[in-house]
Order: sequence, then C-alpha cells, then structure tokens
Amino acid sequence: MIIAIDGPSAAGKGTLARGIAKALGYHFLDTGALYRMVGLQMIREGTEDPLKAVDIARSLDPGAFKDNELRTEDVAGRASVAAAIPAVRQALLEFQRGFAKRPPGAVLDGRDIGTVVCPNAELKFFVTASTQVRAQRRFDELKASGKSVPFEQVLDELRTRDERDASRATAPTLAAEDAILIDTSELDASEVLAAVMDVVRDAQSSR
Ligand code: C5P
Repeated sequence: MIIAIDGPSAAGKGTLARGIAKALGYHFLDTGALYRMVGLQMIREGTEDPLKAVDIARSLDPGAFKDNELRTEDVAGRASVAAAIPAVRQALLEFQRGFAKRPPGAVLDGRDIGTVVCPNAELKFFVTASTQVRAQRRFDELKASGKSVPFEQVLDELRTRDERDASRATAPTLAAEDAILIDTSELDASEVLAAVMDVVRDAQSSR
C-alpha cells in the first residue's frame, strides 16, 4: 500500500509519516529532503541559476547529504525556490515514484504526493494546522536545538515559504480531492497518529 501525506511546513507531516511507517513496517520517504539537498548544493556552489539547479537535481545522490545539514531555514528557503522550477521537480519524480513502489509498502510525505507523485495512492492525508501553531512548533524546535531566532522571523519565513509553495504553477501544495483532511492545531503527535492508524487499519482490512 502507498500512503501519501501532504501539507504545509511544520504541520506534523513528518512525525506522522514516520509513525505510520514504523507501525506498519513500511518504507518512509521525506520528499522535502530531496528539495533541501538541491537547495543545500546550490548554496555550496554559490549559485542561484535555475539551469544549475536542474543539473544538481538530475545528478543528485540522496546518500551524500547529512540530515542535520539540511534542517536550516536557509536551506529550506532555497529548496522552496528550486522546487518552483518544473524541470527540478521532473528530475526528482522518478526516484520518488520508484521508492513508492517498494514492497511491502511506503509512506511519502511532501506537498504534491497525493496529487502528482502518487495520484493512485490508496490512502491520502492532508495535514495542516494554523499558521501561529506551526510557527510556534518551528520556533520551539529551533530553540531546543540551541538556535535562538526571534518568533516574528520564524513566522515570517514560514509564511513566505508556504505562500511560494502554495502559489507556484507546477505541483503547488494542494489537498488531493480524495485526501482526508487533518487539522493538528489542537492535537499532539500521538493523538494524530492514533486517529490516522484507525483509518489505515480500516483500509487494510477492507483490501
Ligand atoms: O517538507 P520540507 O519543509 O522539508 O520541504 C522543503 C521544501 O521543499 C518545501 O518548502 C517545498 O518548497 C519543497 N517540497 C516540494 N514538494 C515536496 C516536498 C517538498 O516542493 N513534495
């Protein structure tokens, strides 16, 4: 089974997707990390050239990046700019689709999994939360990792990135028509996982 989890940043997609994959023994792919790798490589090469971004995406080696290097807002911002380039998205598509087919199943999280990457996914969730709550979560994460960034800056960066992701012409952040919407504003991670696992188990037993 393929499970697609989409939504804006810091909505709790990653935690949820990891939790489902662990519970089911499925593979998990954080597709945002692929775009972050492109963004990080652009920073390293000191380039903003879209053609360079496409070259980087085409020759990407997902094993060559350390996760902690990808988790900065600078990299996220650059990833979001690169992600608006259709040829960059195209270059990353095959890897994501190949991953999704791995047995016994896969959970992918991103912005366009249910709409573009895996429109045939058996289960689709669109996870969201209010902008304030998402910014607060990101702020707390940063603080816990020893980075003190003013809350207003975190809020601003999150808004800018989400607006860019939601308004781009190719594969914008969008709930698929058959996605189940989940608002995590007032739920903690374990409550979200429990609710989603009920749906997943139902879907499994009716296959
Ligand atoms: O999910 P994460 O915040 O790590 O993603 C970083 C950026 O990568 C997003 O802001 C978005 O621009 C891009 N992205 C995307 N499509 C996906 C996953 C991420 O465009 N499926």
